Amino acid sequence: MVLDVSEEELSSLGVREGASVLLTHQDQPLAVLEVEEIFSYDKEFLAQHVYGTTDEAHPGVLRTYSFQDRFVAGPITLVNPPVINPPYDRFWRTPRQLRERFAELGWTKVVAHQTRNVPHSGHEWMMKGAYLAAEAQGILVSAVIGEKKPGDYIDEAIVLGHDKLRESGFIRPDVHQTSTLMWDMRYAGPREAVFHALVRKNMGCTHHMFGRDHAGVGNYYGTYAAHEIFDQLPDLGIKSVLTLEWWYCPVCESVAYEGLCGHREHKQDLSGTFIRSIIQGGTEPASVSLRGEVLEVVRECADTYGFGSPFVTEAYLENRTPVMSIPALN
Ligand SMILES: [Zn+2]
Repeated sequence: MVLDVSEEELSSLGVREGASVLLTHQDQPLAVLEVEEIFSYDKEFLAQHVYGTTDEAHPGVLRTYSFQDRFVAGPITLVNPPVINPPYDRFWRTPRQLRERFAELGWTKVVAHQTRNVPHSGHEWMMKGAYLAAEAQGILVSAVIGEKKPGDYIDEAIVLGHDKLRESGFIRPDVHQTSTLMWDMRYAGPREAVFHALVRKNMGCTHHMFGRDHAGVGNYYGTYAAHEIFDQLPDLGIKSVLTLEWWYCPVCESVAYEGLCGHREHKQDLSGTFIRSIIQGGTEPASVSLRGEVLEVVRECADTYGFGSPFVTEAYLENRTPVMSIPALN
């Protein structure tokens, strides 16, 4: 791994190649980094090759430009395992534990669904469609738990909302697992998709769903670039499953798939904005758009974890229970 550090900090801490450095989090010891290499780098070159742009309006580019001037690199060893706090503790598994779980369930083909959303019917059918397309035995919901901004769904509602689909039997418990991935999105579009695929491969998945604008931002990447990039790469040991949009079709009187339904002109969006208006109580929920059970759990999460809101607020950012806590070492 690499950490960005300034020249001044390196000399004031006396960090040089060959040193062992204790890394802390929440003011507690977490891991030891064996410093193998300290090097400088070209930020524009890095931004161009990762993001395909050097435009500072891109949040990933901005992140790269805010790095300190040197990278400290080397292997890390965990010395003080974090404690995962409720409600995440039930969903947190290491890659090894996930692979063991899949073996127990007899899953040899597993399709990953990355999410930062409370699931509406479009997401539910997207998972079911990808499960069929991959001829999988299991679906792994991998909820990205990380950097939040006001207006995002709170992490608790995302995780518990997805698990509710399993609990309520909309997807059988022996076919569905919810898990978390601690990751701050970089919005690198297709290149981040490849990274996500490799992370899920490590978790034991054989297939990964990639839909519209996966890990994208603005208009930097093509709509399905995150799916198409896999055609240009050698076999990575995990396959991309293309997932087009699901919407509500009043003619079919059901949730309908973009690639199948012929009534595109009647399309009723299951967009984030529409679902948000249901959750905020402005629009009457139809069970074809958002499961009542999911809506109920989202409202409970607002009360229990969200300071009254299922969406991230300043109060949530300041006072939420951290996903993990680092125990004090005596
Ligand atoms: Zn239709």
